[in-house]
Amino acid sequence: MMNYMICSKKIVTVTALGTVLDGAMVVSDGKITAVGKWADLRKQYSDTKMIDCTDKVITPALVDCHTHLLEFAPSSIYPVTPETHLLAGRNILFHALSCGITALGEQVCGHPLCDFSIEDYRQALAELPIDVSFAATSISIGFEKLAHFTSVTGSRNVDQRELSLPCIVKEIARSSEYPGENIFINATPANFKATEVPRAGEIVYTLEELKQIVETYHQLDKRIGCHVAGKAGIQMALDAGFNVLHHAHGITEDQLNFAAKQGVKLVATPIGGTHLKPNSPEDILIAVKKGIDVSISTDAYLPPHPEASWLPFCSQSLKGPDVLMLIAQPGMKLLQKQGYGENEILALLTENPAKILKKEDHFGRLEPGLDANFIVADGVPGLEITDVEQIRKVFYRGKKVIDRDR
Ligand SMILES: [Zn+2]
Repeated sequence: MMNYMICSKKIVTVTALGTVLDGAMVVSDGKITAVGKWADLRKQYSDTKMIDCTDKVITPALVDCHTHLLEFAPSSIYPVTPETHLLAGRNILFHALSCGITALGEQVCGHPLCDFSIEDYRQALAELPIDVSFAATSISIGFEKLAHFTSVTGSRNVDQRELSLPCIVKEIARSSEYPGENIFINATPANFKATEVPRAGEIVYTLEELKQIVETYHQLDKRIGCHVAGKAGIQMALDAGFNVLHHAHGITEDQLNFAAKQGVKLVATPIGGTHLKPNSPEDILIAVKKGIDVSISTDAYLPPHPEASWLPFCSQSLKGPDVLMLIAQPGMKLLQKQGYGENEILALLTENPAKILKKEDHFGRLEPGLDANFIVADGVPGLEITDVEQIRKVFYRGKKVIDRDR
């Protein structure tokens, strides 16, 4: 495979090296082999092919660790049938890639309209230049009569009791690759109108059930995450020992302190996703200040929450991976105002979500030994740019897979 050195006016490494001005990065066989000042590396690599991006910024590619792009999105945005569902899914993943996202955490919850298994999705994606980790989950939707599904029972509606059945929980835990929203502690509004989901927010489990479920995952040496919002549900999640809280809308100061002490990670979805007002820029700042590992994620496709005043959207239409930088920007800007550096801040879209996926030894930073997954852009994603058109090139394992400068 090709070896090259790429140089730019600024490389934001998201490592202890920080930002390198007039930087260069050497890539061989899909891996990063050196990062430093161009002036220092040019002699050592004088024979290496050079890619000149001196008017651009290089950063790690983005990681969106909480999405529903393969199971839910195809039928919500395209008129698909089971025959074309996966074709639409591949198209959506290409779109994500064009937005600078080279790694995704995808939830497989069970869906009334499709019977695909994680293995089916994995096969449909084989060879695509994007890294997808799957969380196997169950889901509870807040209709008048709660509707429950699981990733291991396909399109069949299950009853509430089955959600905690050890044989089902074990099967879900076994097939789950990372702590996504493995269970929904609160019934979700999903993408339905408030009037259609009057029971959204209702707590579905007892603390005893949650403890059992967490125990099952931990016995299999897996971390577990949950969909949760509101003080009562979050308290149950913390008491039961969940490793990752997704959304955590309405988390209190005390609960953040406890989460920080226990090393519980937070996946913020500032666009919405639960029955409560989503994570505001201030919420994100407080969590980061407490020392919690915060990731920002789209939960795409999702309609913007009407109370999310920090979002620029004027319609309730579903938003996809193209809004990741836009929904992250208010929180990222606030962190910058509070004195955080661009490397620490960009970690919320790169290194931290890579840690959720347990892929931090593969990507999320620009460091020798890691996959060469990076972006060439007009500015720092989320901080300086929010328009995907400003992401000029995307590289996946050293190969250029998106180019807006042809
Ligand atoms: Zn979700």
